[in-house]
Amino acid sequence: MFRNFRMVSYVVFGRGSFNQLDDILSRRRKDGGSVVVFCVDDVHKDKPLKNRLPLKSRDLLLWVNADVEPKTSYVDQLTKRVKEEAKSLPVGVIGIGGGSTMDISKAVSLMLTNTGSSADYQGWDLIRNPAVYHAGIPTLSGTGAEASRTAILTGPQKKLGLNSDYTVFDQIVLDPELIQGVPTEQWFYTGMDCYIHCIESLTGTYLNAFSKAYGEKALDLCREVFLEGGPGSEDKLMMASYCGGMSIAYSQVGVAHALSYGLSFVLGLRHGIGNSIAFDYLEEFYPEGVHEFRKMLEKHKIDLPRKITANLDEEQMNRMIDVALILEPLWENALGKDWKKKMTRDRIADLYRRM
Ligand code: NAD
Ligand code: ZN
Repeated sequence: MFRNFRMVSYVVFGRGSFNQLDDILSRRRKDGGSVVVFCVDDVHKDKPLKNRLPLKSRDLLLWVNADVEPKTSYVDQLTKRVKEEAKSLPVGVIGIGGGSTMDISKAVSLMLTNTGSSADYQGWDLIRNPAVYHAGIPTLSGTGAEASRTAILTGPQKKLGLNSDYTVFDQIVLDPELIQGVPTEQWFYTGMDCYIHCIESLTGTYLNAFSKAYGEKALDLCREVFLEGGPGSEDKLMMASYCGGMSIAYSQVGVAHALSYGLSFVLGLRHGIGNSIAFDYLEEFYPEGVHEFRKMLEKHKIDLPRKITANLDEEQMNRMIDVALILEPLWENALGKDWKKKMTRDRIADLYRRM
């Protein structure tokens, strides 16, 4: 069966396009009593963006914290707050921030119409009811969360997304001005998430013309942004992130992502940095990609953390290997159908020990 892929319904792109949000939302607001929920990364609390939010009297503004990656308990807490304070079902949930905030807004929009805890829906196609209308506005580019059908959450048992057609945003607003001025390290690591999406998609066994078209374009844009730079870089990175997301949506990621999930679960590392740390040790799988990645590291003077697994005990190492091995489609994409013969626990342990 071929995947019948649900895409974002509406996209607006361009510098200053954020100003159109009021107009876009006015079509959702039925009357003066309609509530729109704004989930905004709290990094913007004291920034000019705060005064540009098109808030109406009954709207709710939730400052969302992304110091750690989103947890199911946090999503449940925010959903409860919205139910208590909005009093009626909101007509929209708007996520403004990086991948974490966008995922939180997707998850809250789903949990407003589905009962129980968000942890009950970590998996594939477990969501029963359509979400409240939800829109995503990136202020950090690379994850492709604006394009994907998942909202990645860490729950009590696992780190796994709420994957469903209902998860996909109804609207995204891609305004390159919003990603200006991100601190270099964060810009680099989230950007490398996109670069690694491209390499893993383009070298994978799941590759097809759809994924290749998006993946090649995204890779070209990443090269322009991270090896050349210059004016227009924000516009390019924003489109690279979107196209990289579209590429993996119809193929899969690979070894770096599988190992990175283990690093995140056991060591609490963020997605972008975890991918970068893992990728640097994967020359045997992605020789050209790793070589080019090192040029990018050097150009931007990024010092990758080293020896991060040096103090892990055997139990932690085993848990990390378990988490990585759950991600079977990633291994199959990277290494083929007989991947289990190629990727043993010992080989994964050896890769982790080098990091
Ligand atoms: P993030 O959203 O976790 O944010 C990282 C840091 O950057 C935070 O401290 C945040 O406050 C800050 N930040 C955000 N915008 C900023 C701005 N304009 N200026 C300065 N600082 C800013 O980072 P991310 O890399 O975008 O997202 C990582 C998350 O995305 C992880 O939780 C990961 O699991 C998830 N993810 C989701 C998908 C998906 O398809 N849904 C794909 C990949 C990753
Ligand atoms: Zn990723």
